[in-house]
Amino acid sequence: MLVNEDAGTRLRMRVTPAAELAVRHGHPWIYGDKVRQQNRRGETGEITVIYDRQDRFLGLGLYDKESAIRLRMLHVGRPVKVDAAWWRQKLEETVAKRDGIFSPDTTGYRLINGENDGWPALILDRYADTLVLKIYAALWLPHLADIESLLRTVLAPRTIVLRLSRNLISLASRDYGVEEDFLGEPGDDVVVFQENGLYFTSEVRFGQKTGFFLDQRENRERVEHLSAGCTVLNAFSFSGGFSLYAARGGARRVTDVDISAHALASAQENFQLNAGDPRVAAVEHESIQADAFDWMAEAVQSGRSGPRFGLIVTDPPSLAKRETEREGATLAYERLAVSAFKLLEPGGTVVSASCSAHVSARDFQQAVRRAATSVFGQSWEELWTAGHAADHPISFREGEYLKALAIRGG
Ligand code: SAH
Repeated sequence: MLVNEDAGTRLRMRVTPAAELAVRHGHPWIYGDKVRQQNRRGETGEITVIYDRQDRFLGLGLYDKESAIRLRMLHVGRPVKVDAAWWRQKLEETVAKRDGIFSPDTTGYRLINGENDGWPALILDRYADTLVLKIYAALWLPHLADIESLLRTVLAPRTIVLRLSRNLISLASRDYGVEEDFLGEPGDDVVVFQENGLYFTSEVRFGQKTGFFLDQRENRERVEHLSAGCTVLNAFSFSGGFSLYAARGGARRVTDVDISAHALASAQENFQLNAGDPRVAAVEHESIQADAFDWMAEAVQSGRSGPRFGLIVTDPPSLAKRETEREGATLAYERLAVSAFKLLEPGGTVVSASCSAHVSARDFQQAVRRAATSVFGQSWEELWTAGHAADHPISFREGEYLKALAIRGG
């Protein structure tokens, strides 16, 4: 059970002064080398109480012997009894943070954003009446039955899908007999939901992330408002999120470029789903399967005769999976932006996005601004910058990954 044990047997820990301070200020992770003292060996998933230097309760978290991050915090502050009622209240409070953010024509959004919402290494996305639970650390694996029953009690979904981060799949199967699957009654592998009135499919069982990139919703709306009358290039288009918004915003033509034939096919399917919208039905939609870096560089090379666009969106996958790749990734963003600026019609706009957590918003934005200056000199204008949406809150530096900016060229 996911509850505090008796005081006698409870797993207790003391950590270094620096770690204590970090936790007090809301940092959710304690690395193994910051643990000073522990009353006994812990099991993965055990609730663990941290005491401070004065032996006062500091907080509690979930123990993980599999990970360098030994403890992930669930609660900091006054002592609490962790029981079924506590979990239920925690979930209700997390979900209530989304109240009033979305109108009824948005049925896909994030309900729990991991550490940032006090649920370490756990993501919960809603797509209509399906919930996708994605787990990023082993510490939840012993508790899946409790989590499932909690989700059913509070949220009453029709279907729950369990997804695991790639590094957990074999461990989950070997040590816990847990596989990526439906929890309870099986449902559909692909779910249709709405985002701002547009219909999309999410491949909840086998797609990237939880099947769709919910984090770009607000940027897609911004793109809709920039699209009227434009020829649009959506580079790294995935299932066509930006493309559909551009079409509804009055784009004349939309070109999707993605390396994955499957992603391009799902974008076409999403265009079909929205054929009832006259602007979507009217747009000329083209799909190109290619490496978008190469395709854009070649389009630049082909010079005057090559394609030109009034609006270009670039949203590549993470280019820095680790800190050592940060500089290379920043350069890659700059080069990509140079290509995009060179492919613009006069007065056209580039929307650049980055989901690399290791590249800061500041470094990313400066790279794109350098690219604009190298192509246009001083004659460009920054329209907006954007970060995380309200259903993807951030509470600590490592939780921040998404940034975007829009620049209109000369
Ligand atoms: N903008 C999308 C999400 C993009 S995810 C949305 O709003 O939903 C990144 C996409 O880049 C994936 O579809 C992946 O297939 C594609 N991709 C990865 N490497 C690529 C490359 N070198 N060239 C083109 N597409 C690539």
